[in-house]
Amino acid sequence: MSLARGERDVSKTTDLVIAGGGIAGLTVALAAAERGLSSVVIDEPRPGAASRAAAGMLAPSVEGLPPSVRPLALEAREYFPRFLAELQAKADFDVAVALNRNGILEVASTEEDLTRLRDRTRDDAVLLDQRGLAELEPALATHMGAVLHPKDGSVDNIALMSMLDLAASRQRLIRRISDSVASIELSGGRHVAWTGEGTRHEGRMIVLASGAWGSAIPGLPRNLPVRPLRGQLLLLDQLPLTHVAYVAGGYLVPRGTTLLVGATSEEAGFKNGVTGEGQMELLGIAQRAIPELASARVIEHWAGLRPVTPDALPILGRDPGVPGLIYACGFSRNGILLAPWAASQLAALVAGEDASDLAPFAASRFAPNAALK
Ligand SMILES: Cc1cc2nc3c(=O)[nH]c(=O)nc-3n(C[C@H](O)[C@H](O)[C@H](O)COP(=O)(O)OP(=O)(O)OC[C@H]3O[C@@H](n4cnc5c(N)ncnc54)[C@H](O)[C@@H]3O)c2cc1C
Repeated sequence: MSLARGERDVSKTTDLVIAGGGIAGLTVALAAAERGLSSVVIDEPRPGAASRAAAGMLAPSVEGLPPSVRPLALEAREYFPRFLAELQAKADFDVAVALNRNGILEVASTEEDLTRLRDRTRDDAVLLDQRGLAELEPALATHMGAVLHPKDGSVDNIALMSMLDLAASRQRLIRRISDSVASIELSGGRHVAWTGEGTRHEGRMIVLASGAWGSAIPGLPRNLPVRPLRGQLLLLDQLPLTHVAYVAGGYLVPRGTTLLVGATSEEAGFKNGVTGEGQMELLGIAQRAIPELASARVIEHWAGLRPVTPDALPILGRDPGVPGLIYACGFSRNGILLAPWAASQLAALVAGEDASDLAPFAASRFAPNAALK
């Protein structure tokens, strides 16, 4: 290996070099550390990074996932309480991350909506008529009814990211670097990440966890079809609900003493600004669902970039041609739900332990040079 002037080789014997320090990168580093594996997490904070911007819903029953993936998504939801308890112990912090397991309501505004929901009710879902809904959530009393998915819910993803930061900083097997991964080299059995500042990090494996920017790092063996899909959210100063509610055009998520209203879905490239149009759309969703919210104050309005794939499923596991390259990206709309579970499976995989079958998420489902759709 020869280095150009000004370049530094800082590689020692790292197991994983992880590109990206959102929920995907940090959970992989922590799950790997549990198995005695060391990581260097290289993260350049970028406007639009999704993990702190998200609504934090854990909604495998509502998100319309394909049958091959649904059981895995339910497994991911059931993993959450244990994951949070273990994370809190690793962070050695006495305030827990808020987890709402009251269930998620899919609310019907019309008779047709209710019929449609009735036809789709399955597993442990409970159909509520207008009275049942009004008893559960008086603020939704004007709606025709709802389906309650009793085990879905939400997590405070901002608190979760802070807890992940703390736990990673306390873990001696994890080194964190604030820099960009400018390119990767995967030839000759070597796995190297070069940073924007010119440092070289070699690892036994490279993990790609760079969110919406997943396809943009030079040196990848395939053109990953991951693209940014902007979502705007509002935070209102009223809390009329105790359940997460999917309502016409969007969703409402209780958070502390406030209410999140989401979310737009916009093809805006990597532009992460908020817009007046976005705010109007979100206020409309909130007020059509609960007219009293017309008097609510907007506390905050922000946007984030979902890292989406053509089938809205993540890309997980080894690259078919380069086994030392591991994908933990393309989490699309469900990364808060799926990433902690995915990280535990990926860490098991790289440690040579039994892991769930990640075939539905294999990179090989896309042509090596699939066009970005
Ligand atoms: C508005 C909105 C609402 C959402 N709601 C939900 C929800 O309710 N439930 C749910 O489960 N999911 C939700 N999601 C999706 C979820 O947020 C994402 O799937 C998840 O956060 C993706 O995590 P990540 O770590 O892959 O990406 P990110 O959080 O974006 O992290 C990637 C990190 O990599 C860094 N990076 C990128 N390129 C490089 C590079 N070359 N070098 C170094 N660092 C780099 C970025 O700056 C960033 O810090 C929502 C997303 C949005 C935007």
